[in-house]
Amino acid sequence: MRIQEVITALESWAPPVLQEDYDNSGLQVGDRQLEVKAALVCLDCTEAVLDEAVRKGCGLVVAHHPVIFRGLKGLTGSNEVERILLKAIRHNVAIYAIHTNLDNVIDGVNGEIAARLGLTGLQVLDPKAGQLRKLAVFTPHSHAEAVRSALFVAGAGRVGLYDECSYNLEGFGTFRGGEGTNAYVGEKGQRHTEPETRVEVIYHAPLERSIVAAMKAAHPYEEVAYDLVPLLNAHSGVGSGAVGELPEAEAEEAFLARVKRVFGAAVVRHTALRGRPVKRVAVCGGSGAFLIGRALAAGADAFVTGDVKYHQFFEADGRMVIADIGHFESERFTMDLIQRRLTENFPTFAVHLTDTVTNPIHVS
Ligand SMILES: [Zn+2]
Repeated sequence: MRIQEVITALESWAPPVLQEDYDNSGLQVGDRQLEVKAALVCLDCTEAVLDEAVRKGCGLVVAHHPVIFRGLKGLTGSNEVERILLKAIRHNVAIYAIHTNLDNVIDGVNGEIAARLGLTGLQVLDPKAGQLRKLAVFTPHSHAEAVRSALFVAGAGRVGLYDECSYNLEGFGTFRGGEGTNAYVGEKGQRHTEPETRVEVIYHAPLERSIVAAMKAAHPYEEVAYDLVPLLNAHSGVGSGAVGELPEAEAEEAFLARVKRVFGAAVVRHTALRGRPVKRVAVCGGSGAFLIGRALAAGADAFVTGDVKYHQFFEADGRMVIADIGHFESERFTMDLIQRRLTENFPTFAVHLTDTVTNPIHVS
């Protein structure tokens, strides 16, 4: 398997443009054209994980957290990051990070947490702005279906759990071909009137280039008339955190005990219980305290996340139970998620989960 093929699969799922400004997701070390026999998936590419990759013959490490997060001033092995990079280069192991872009898609880190908790009706807590656009294309009636289908195949027309969504309006277009034209219908130099359908579809902005290319390939005209329009509408599947419902309300104590067990947390730090059952649950893998206000506004009974600080616990205000299960614990199933996704894409490619526990926090 060429490294680039793995990257393409990962990036069509969690486009790199969705990463936060401070992040550094993407290929960090390695040649994307190289062939690899296997990949190793981890949360943190530590030195021990890299040794494991070498031992297991994995030419690619797919990590959630980037190894290179800040600028490097040297590469001499003076700290763990530099030692990891030197070792990766020496052993020809590529390192790829899929971090906040995987946090920001609903079927990423938070979708997996929600699935493990049994949440349904999932929506992102804090939709990312500027994700949705609309395309309107004018096509002869005879080609409307072909153009529509091409748009759908390229990923346009997806709204929540629906796909193949479009709006179609029949009218007519006019044109007159000049010197050098080879129009699909009509005569050169004469105004032609053609019955046309206006096909409108919504799409996720990162898909624009491939959607427009697919639309043009299916369209019979030399000069295709189309509009691309940015929308202010929020994309319910792109952004931070997620909120959903339990199939049945659960007592707070039982809910916390289940969360602790499911995520293998040695300890769950939480705010005072309210004496009311939990039905609506917000989640955010990793450091999610920045979403406490959003979780409250979404009417969550509980918010499951990691890295909550003392003062941030006060923000629950007695209205919601904040449960800090630990950063590592909240993200541990991200590894299984990445492995599953890659195995679905490449059934014959070996994708291993690391045996190394990289959680730097120990509880005594
Ligand atoms: Zn994290």
